Amino acid sequence: MTRMIQDKIEKFMEVSELQLDPLFPPKIQFEVTNACNQDCVFCYRSQSPRGRVNITEKTVDMVLKQGKELGVSTISFTAGAEPLMHPQLLTFVRRAKLYYRYPYVFITTNGVAKPFRWTELVEAGLDSIKFSINAIDRENYELVHGADHFKLVMAAIEHLIKLKSEYKFYLGISFVECPENAHVALKAYGFWKPYLDRGLDEFFTVPASNQSGQMRAYPSIGMNQCNQPWLAFVVTADGYYRACCADMDNKTALCDLNGGIKKAFYSRKAKAFRKKHINHKLKGTICYDCLNHD
Ligand code: SF4
Repeated sequence: MTRMIQDKIEKFMEVSELQLDPLFPPKIQFEVTNACNQDCVFCYRSQSPRGRVNITEKTVDMVLKQGKELGVSTISFTAGAEPLMHPQLLTFVRRAKLYYRYPYVFITTNGVAKPFRWTELVEAGLDSIKFSINAIDRENYELVHGADHFKLVMAAIEHLIKLKSEYKFYLGISFVECPENAHVALKAYGFWKPYLDRGLDEFFTVPASNQSGQMRAYPSIGMNQCNQPWLAFVVTADGYYRACCADMDNKTALCDLNGGIKKAFYSRKAKAFRKKHINHKLKGTICYDCLNHD
């Protein structure tokens, strides 16, 4: 995350924290699709009962236009599943960067794509690509990700490191620690060190969590107060404002976007959701499972 984004978020939280009518969030996250081409052991997505939905170009454009008018600075085209599964991802990135000129546009991805797609996305101005790579060899990768894509993903990293000599963008890798890869977690930094020396910007590990209470085998996020009702504006693939980026079943989808994004963020249901968080009256919601389960 750049300093500029961090500053904006800190300023936003100073003014907005625990307000029923906070400032509009500085970042919009698009769930461009709820589909994925992998089945990671720590991820709830494949258990979700939702059928496959891809966001429409009309919804993306409407939200980008209104977000710009509201002073949003950051666009994520990831909120849960795999953004590369949407056939128009490149169009969306071009629209956000080249037409609306958002300062910061990023994706988080498993990285399963042919080299030309990476070149096009970077040429379109994508500011940041964060890969989720949760193994350091082919066999363990297949066990953790549920797909034999290790060679393809490593080729993508090589390709992007070459592109970094021509284009300015952030390239990072996260590693979610879970029982299936615990035996290599400590070796992972050593594995990526030569790549860090050649231009990879960051490698970091995070423990698997219960994903909004949906993966009960893993611990909760360990917070008493969640900032998502204030900080997150997720646009679901089916065109709703959702208050949580990790909620793949749309249980925190609070309002459709027919009246626009501002109206949705300040809707009666959105305020009631914030109120429940302020008063810690969350029993019966996924937030209760998310915050209290361990
Ligand atoms: S507490 Fe609720 S809004 Fe916050 S991360 Fe958990 S499920 Fe999402």
